Amino acid sequence: VIEIRDLHKSYGPLEVLKGVDLVAPRGNVISLIGSSGSGKSTLLRCCNLLEDSQQGDILFEGEAVHWKGSGLHRHPADKAQVLRIRTNLSMVFQQFNLWSHMTILQNVMEAPLTVLKRDPAEVEAKAREYLAKVGIVEKCDAWPAQLSGGQQQRAAIARALCMEPRALLFDEPTSALDPELEQEVVKVIKALADEGRTMIIVTHDMKLAADVSDHTIFLHKGLIEEEGPPDQLFGNPQSERLRGFLSATM
Ligand code: ATP
Ligand code: MG
Repeated sequence: VIEIRDLHKSYGPLEVLKGVDLVAPRGNVISLIGSSGSGKSTLLRCCNLLEDSQQGDILFEGEAVHWKGSGLHRHPADKAQVLRIRTNLSMVFQQFNLWSHMTILQNVMEAPLTVLKRDPAEVEAKAREYLAKVGIVEKCDAWPAQLSGGQQQRAAIARALCMEPRALLFDEPTSALDPELEQEVVKVIKALADEGRTMIIVTHDMKLAADVSDHTIFLHKGLIEEEGPPDQLFGNPQSERLRGFLSATM
């Protein structure tokens, strides 16, 4: 679904990604791990073009992103393509980002209605279906502030699903949650993995990464230091840095 080749990304003089390759084939779950500041969120945001990048290719379903300009002036050239890619790669953030002035149902329905201009009755049926899937359909008419953190994050996942994207991108979906609420969200993510959804998950939760991924990438200072099947990365890490990272986090 997504392929990234030799991606470079700088914020002004600070080079954050220094030539990263990533492939997320359909139905695969890729986990991204690494120390704070290694570039995980940046890489995720480059995938769905929330961030520009300076060099390298991004392909969505085999279709290369068209660029104009170069270096720090490089931007996607085709607005329709950006919209198509962004709506097909739905993002779930650490801080849920629900709209506080809308009910849970309205939150889930908003983007399919306004961005995709889908039929309201169909969108509502889908929204209820996805809220049921994440286990909070009874919270339809509640306001975000009336939900626990775990429920809010599950609502955010339902909102991402309601776009019927080709892939889901998660940026530390459980980091803002207390341990017991974290498990509610982990359960939903595992169910989505079992369904064969394509996902890229940035996480500090090594157990989640080991349990759900087909492929794990360890990022260090903007470069892939080591990658492979999670059994191998967690069971038999090769690089000194990965061994150090794992002993500090597990
Ligand atoms: P964490 O685990 O703490 O979330 P991360 O691996 O997600 O870290 P990024 O958020 O991708 O790291 O940040 C990588 C580097 O880029 C950091 O040095 C950060 O300070 C810098 N950075 C991120 N966003 C910006 C920005 N908008 N402007 C300038 N620098 C940024
Ligand atoms: Mg981050």
